Amino acid sequence: MTQVRQAPVPASKTMGEPTARGRFGEYGGRYAPESLVEACREVDEAFREAWADPGFRGELAELLALHAGRPTPLTPARRLSEELGVRLYLKREDLTHTGSHKINNVLGQALLATRMGRRRLIAETGAGQHGVATATAAALLGLEATVFMGERDIERQELNVFRMRMLGAEVVPVTTGSRTLKDATSQAMRHWVGATGDSHYCVGSVVGPDPYPWMVREFQRVIGEEARAQCAAALAAGVPEYVVACVGGGSNAAGTFAGFADTTARFVGVEADGGAGAARGSLGVLHGCRSLFLQDGDGQIVEAHSIAAGLDYPGVGPEHAHLRDLGRARYDTVSDGEAVGAAVRLARTEGIVPALESAHALAWVIRAAGDGGLPAGATVLMTLSGRGDKDISTLKELL
Ligand SMILES: *Cc1c(COP(=O)(O)O)cnc(C)c1O
Repeated sequence: MTQVRQAPVPASKTMGEPTARGRFGEYGGRYAPESLVEACREVDEAFREAWADPGFRGELAELLALHAGRPTPLTPARRLSEELGVRLYLKREDLTHTGSHKINNVLGQALLATRMGRRRLIAETGAGQHGVATATAAALLGLEATVFMGERDIERQELNVFRMRMLGAEVVPVTTGSRTLKDATSQAMRHWVGATGDSHYCVGSVVGPDPYPWMVREFQRVIGEEARAQCAAALAAGVPEYVVACVGGGSNAAGTFAGFADTTARFVGVEADGGAGAARGSLGVLHGCRSLFLQDGDGQIVEAHSIAAGLDYPGVGPEHAHLRDLGRARYDTVSDGEAVGAAVRLARTEGIVPALESAHALAWVIRAAGDGGLPAGATVLMTLSGRGDKDISTLKELL
């Protein structure tokens, strides 16, 4: 059975700032070469200053409203809720410009880069979603963008490569290792070493060296804060009993959870069974950060495999590892097949084709509603992290 009935969660002050050493519990930190440690320190200082400045906050809020289409609606999934016997509400990140929550983070980092006097953004991308979002934000703010992408992913994601180039970004093929996301990230970090003076490294999730896991969560907090206010208006109890989101690195989940950290809502993060970090990873260090990763007996990182490219990361952000240890959030996995089934079900009951990443969160809700993991009538907030347009050809081949 889907184990979800945790003990009642005390409202607590989790999801605040990391410690002075950039830690969430025993996770996080800044495991990077000397020059990058200094560059991260500069990003940290600039971010703290900007985040405390109402002028920066106002400018970002305006960008999110006028360019990204915020606030996004909270949609009751009426027909599906009736079938499942729970009350499911969807936070609609699929309706943002570029089609996923990634735009919230890149607009924040691009604005920060401008404030720091940087003229170029460096990013890594797997399937291209974060690369497209970065190229979009760069174009909007008049910055250059250099996106590192594994050679294999370039072959698989032709359309996103074209999209990035159309937006004016330079796409650099990465030919080392498995020629996918893990190597693209390593290459982007190496490139940043030689370019810290004029370039900002725009990390795509709540991973990487401090302050990125914290900063990216803060830029995604807008999801949770909007949802909190919308739930206060839509639900008799004011807060949902369960808050569910898919977890790749964990940014849409962290941003959603942050809005409900001081409530008794139970948090569930759903990982792909081929990419699980918090559900069944072990302690390690990758890309500048100590967290939970999929590793073999020698501590070598194992390639992740998921039908959802955004969940194809062999680990999870440090704060999720910490939330797991605290028992504040629980993490479960879903298979490719369950996710595809959930995508079809949402399409047919609600008229929404979700991204395959988001379909993982929904598949968990469907499974838990069916096997008693979710009590009958439970109120569930689920973040629909993105739209399914990018997955249509994958779905077409399968169905
Ligand atoms: C990238 C992506 C994800 C996974 O990233 P997180 O940092 O875990 O949120 C989830 N959904 C969509 C639609 C994505 O593009």
